[in-house]
Amino acid sequence: MNKEITCTDLVQEKLTLLKQNTHQTVNSLLHTLAIDLASKVDSKIASGETIGLLEGIPFGIKDVYMLQGTYATASSELLKNYKSAYTATAIQKLMDAGAIPIVKENCDSFGHGSSSENTIFGAVKNALNPELVGGGSSGGSAVNVAKDYTVFSIGGDTGGSVRQPAGYNNIYGLKPTYGRISRYGLMAYASSTDCVGPLAKSIEDIRIVLNVMSGQDIKDQTTYASNEIDKDSILSSKDIKTVGYFKNFVENDAIDAQIKSDFLASIEKIKAKGVEVKALDFFESETLVSTYYTLAMAETASNLSRLDGTNYGQRIEAENLKETYAVTRSENFSEETKRRIVGGNQVLSQGFSDEIYLKGLALRDQISENFENDFAVVDVILSPVTPDTPPKIGDSLKDPLAMYLSDAYTVGFSLGQLPTLTIPQGTATGLQISAAKNNDELVLKFANFLKDTL
Ligand code: GLN
Repeated sequence: MNKEITCTDLVQEKLTLLKQNTHQTVNSLLHTLAIDLASKVDSKIASGETIGLLEGIPFGIKDVYMLQGTYATASSELLKNYKSAYTATAIQKLMDAGAIPIVKENCDSFGHGSSSENTIFGAVKNALNPELVGGGSSGGSAVNVAKDYTVFSIGGDTGGSVRQPAGYNNIYGLKPTYGRISRYGLMAYASSTDCVGPLAKSIEDIRIVLNVMSGQDIKDQTTYASNEIDKDSILSSKDIKTVGYFKNFVENDAIDAQIKSDFLASIEKIKAKGVEVKALDFFESETLVSTYYTLAMAETASNLSRLDGTNYGQRIEAENLKETYAVTRSENFSEETKRRIVGGNQVLSQGFSDEIYLKGLALRDQISENFENDFAVVDVILSPVTPDTPPKIGDSLKDPLAMYLSDAYTVGFSLGQLPTLTIPQGTATGLQISAAKNNDELVLKFANFLKDTL
């Protein structure tokens, strides 16, 4: 920092922007905490202490993370007065590195959605055109970064919720390899694909934030130890010799004509740089979407069963305990969340689970196997982020099935637990770069290559 602005001024400036903003990105501002932390950083600078890379940097948090003593609403009626009892590991690590949380951000309730309209705080408006949706479910986080209200934000990606809003608002958004960052303190949606993911305006910012949040955590048994990604190592892309793309993602009727031609033009530019490009076969979009939603609904029905007004959430008293549960849950969950709980319980119920749930698991194994075979012949896979440009506010709510199908290109990589990054280039809603598990570094390398190529 060259001392042109104090940390307190920077944080105050961002808080003011957030407060005044009309994109409905804010669920709550962390004003007192943020100013307090900022003044500590200023004293450190004043006394000549050296400060770290993230020290004093204001960031946003999707409102599905715990930060002790602050609201964690999941944009839901049920938790609108709930305050976190503890802090999520990923958020704690950022704070330990000196970053300053300034806002809990609007999103689809419990991560259920692709537009950030399924929220009690009002639909998030797109950063580029406020008549369009901000994308979802981490819409508030993406819009805040795109509008420079936060320097970076932490979203959550279960089936595309970081990558899709990043694409809709033309910024970077990473879903790391599953398990690279601890999920402790992230409200569980579908535990087998939930990932903590950063959104930012540069590849370098993504790298720094990813490094800080990564690592094994005894509070999340699915985490693993990973190596730091070095600044210089991602500047050279010489180990990327072959790129794959899924033919059926571009050769179908659902994709917007412009997105398709822009995607194919990007492929040509990559080839022109001497990189080999291979067209690959993959599962149909309908198969990917139905496999994902079968498993995601089953997992969310099970995860949300704890929210019954007893330990968490605002209780609505009824005649007896059973009625109290029923009324509390019926009145306080959104239509979309209830649709998923009903669907998920159906999937898991006796007589259906073999037919539906186990079939979903089997398909997931086949999808993972498909990826393994792909990464034996290509280094990275490139795909569009979405089949279409962002819808107008109001349109997705009318047609849930169409909304589910808009996740066609993101959910497969979630099922495969692969690292996948949205970059703000190539098509109107960006491009996605995926690599084999734990190859997050390769994804960032290729992003740097594409920054200079497209
Ligand atoms: N749109 C997808 C869903 O509703 C993904 C959401 C997410 O990643 N949280 O499930």
